[in-house]
Amino acid sequence: MHTTVEQDAEAAPVDQEPAAAMAPVADEYAVPGFDAVAHLAAASLDVAMVALVLDSGSAYWYSRDPEARSPHALHPLYLEAARRGAGQVLPDIAADARYRDTPPLTGPSPAPLRFFACEPVFTLSGRHVGALCVMDHAPRSGLDETGRAALRDAARLAGAGVVLGGYLGRTDPVTQLPHRSAFFEDLRARSRNGVQRAWLIAIEVAPVERFNAFVRAMGFTYADELMRAVAARVQGWIPARTNLYQVGVTRFAAVLPDGDRPLETDQLDDLVARLRRPFDCLDIPLTLQPGVGLLDLDVRQLDGNDPLRQVMSASYAAQRSPRGWALYERRQDERHRQEFFLVTELAAALTERTELYLHYQPRVRLSDGRCVAVEALARWRHPTLGEVPPGQFVPLAERAGLMRSLTGWVLDHGVAQLAAWRRAGHDIGLSLNISNADFDADLVTRLEGVVDRHGVDPRVLELEFTESTLLAHNDATRRHLDAVRELGAGIAIDDFGTGYSNLASLRQMPATCLKIDQSFVRAMDASRHDAAIVRSTAALAHDLGFRVVVEGVETRRIYETVRRMACDEVQGFHVSRPLPAAAVPPWLERSAEWHHADGQGEP
Ligand code: C2E
Ligand code: CA
Ligand code: CA
Repeated sequence: MHTTVEQDAEAAPVDQEPAAAMAPVADEYAVPGFDAVAHLAAASLDVAMVALVLDSGSAYWYSRDPEARSPHALHPLYLEAARRGAGQVLPDIAADARYRDTPPLTGPSPAPLRFFACEPVFTLSGRHVGALCVMDHAPRSGLDETGRAALRDAARLAGAGVVLGGYLGRTDPVTQLPHRSAFFEDLRARSRNGVQRAWLIAIEVAPVERFNAFVRAMGFTYADELMRAVAARVQGWIPARTNLYQVGVTRFAAVLPDGDRPLETDQLDDLVARLRRPFDCLDIPLTLQPGVGLLDLDVRQLDGNDPLRQVMSASYAAQRSPRGWALYERRQDERHRQEFFLVTELAAALTERTELYLHYQPRVRLSDGRCVAVEALARWRHPTLGEVPPGQFVPLAERAGLMRSLTGWVLDHGVAQLAAWRRAGHDIGLSLNISNADFDADLVTRLEGVVDRHGVDPRVLELEFTESTLLAHNDATRRHLDAVRELGAGIAIDDFGTGYSNLASLRQMPATCLKIDQSFVRAMDASRHDAAIVRSTAALAHDLGFRVVVEGVETRRIYETVRRMACDEVQGFHVSRPLPAAAVPPWLERSAEWHHADGQGEP
């Protein structure tokens, strides 16, 4: 039976009772292999106890005594051994004149130790880092040559473990900053030190999806370089006496030095401003979307809590706030947990693909009432949650980096369905919603892929982009849009009017169609103002050469009103709600000449 415990000398006030926290500490920061080395040393030298004491003050204990606890204060002998670069053998401390005035030597258990021997520990590169000590309760005559050799070998192995531990456990290979395990170790050291409260700060550099996109586009060298540049900027800001830790690929954290006083808002604004400034990394400018989270932590309640997860949830929320920093809030945390649950479920749904399906909403041409196209709208029926609305899971997919996969599924499924309808003689087109995350060179390739696979003429397809997606344009965006047009597919500007763009700026986009957002349309009956917006937008868009679609037409009155405007097509509950695939052909047949003959209500 043995126990391995570790402790931190600085955190061990000599005049206090050992706290309950002296139980074996989890393996957050360990010296890999210490246990095995100590076990071997204890067996070959037949001693009760082994300790690895580093000159940094950390100590690792191995004891055959089941009751062993970490000693609450390191006996000066251990610290002396850790600092001395040479071995030492003390056959009987109690009889040694040099130690007459020091308290009796103990280890993890209170019974005094009499025999002590140590060997210095060096890293592989020869740096002296501490000592490996062996102790026993009974005095001995000394240590023979075989015993000394065994102790030397064990010390050498421990040195290799220290190197490994430092490497694996404490520093990030890219930024050279201490790691998450070191963060927890240092936090624990504070709690052992009697600190009760601490402010944690966490910095999330960019949303996962964006960072993955950087890596996809630029490669790992660029990403590494970027993280080093970000770390340097944070280091330039961080208060004195504060360690910065790298706690994830794109995440940093620190424990602020003053437990009682959080930072001034100015200081936080300053950090956010520094991180929002573009990075000029390998001569490629890049703007991040940082989020800074803060958490007031009760250090005594470290166990069973994950303060890092909590403070990260605040930085995650901050990423999407204008201010860029946020305090931890339990309610928000709950939301994030639910979101996390949904994301996991959505990821599964995207692999299984039995819970996802599409609805199709018809769009009719005002000049003759014919249904010209349907819009594919994603649906998700979760086995226990039921129907999850797209307004919830689409933005979630966007944030969680699942959008490409969702769009891929909608493209493939929708175009396959369209091909079947067209083969059955229904001459209709299909509109597909494309999100920001889909917008890269791949989009055209993916479109070509489905078109080929299902044998559909790309000219019957239309891709809908929101205003904000189109306006975040640059030369690359423009090239992708041109490629979509060259393939023959149409481009629609969705939800027009909800952003800040004006028509003139959109005219430079190779779009063919403009969909006026339903928010203006639905209130048209009640608000003359909204009616005027729809009328003038439609007229102007028409003059600029766009096909104009009015969305959200819910009543016959509105239908009649927009019919008198410069609109080409309408979509809305008055025409039809989104329909399951099987309901589309019967609907098409019933409404071949959609209410045009008499201009009356639903077919
Ligand atoms: P959207 O692209 O603007 O789609 C039209 C939305 O308006 C649909 O909501 C539709 O059911 C609803 N709608 C249509 N006519 C009326 C009406 O007369 N009155 C009212 N009140 N609503 C009407 P839905 O299906 O809940 O979709 C919401 C949004 O989710 C869509 O807005 C779209 O932005 C997004 N979405 C849905 N499917 C996909 C998809 O496959 N990919 C992407 N990227 N986004 C999707
Ligand atoms: Ca749409
Ligand atoms: Ca829309």
